[in-house]
Amino acid sequence: MSKVKETEKQTYETVKKIFIDYLNKNGHRKTPERFSILRQIYATDGHFDVETLYINMKNNKYRVSRATLYNTVELLLNCNLVARHQFGNNLSLYEKSYKCSQHDHFVDMESGEILEFCDPRIHEIQLAIEKLLNVKIKNRSLTFYGKKLNSQREQKAAK
Ligand SMILES: [Zn+2]
Repeated sequence: MSKVKETEKQTYETVKKIFIDYLNKNGHRKTPERFSILRQIYATDGHFDVETLYINMKNNKYRVSRATLYNTVELLLNCNLVARHQFGNNLSLYEKSYKCSQHDHFVDMESGEILEFCDPRIHEIQLAIEKLLNVKIKNRSLTFYGKKLNSQREQKAAK
């Protein structure tokens, strides 16, 4: 087994434990479907919508209903194992969030392509706002919308 796969397995074991704790504490049933969904999500890189997740699971021969899928994603949101984004349309996109470094997004308004970036200055702003308002920030949502510049000429013209 490769090193990457080994880490992936460890991460899955950890998130599984977090999920079990959450289900126990809140009196939810620990069904095999729920863990299959968690496993599928943690094997997925990048952003996905529930419909795509449904199709991927079907292709992997997991039998889950859409209702179970939506319900489980909701539970995973509640215990912070999944993050939800809404990038300027009605479609909710999700991504695994355990141990995924805090990042923000840029959306290309023409192609819908999503770029991720991480800038420590945004974290500094977050700390400053916590101090200013005397609050503890649990979550944030920051998305820039614009146009991706492909050619050098386009890059010059945009300046
Ligand atoms: Zn992201």
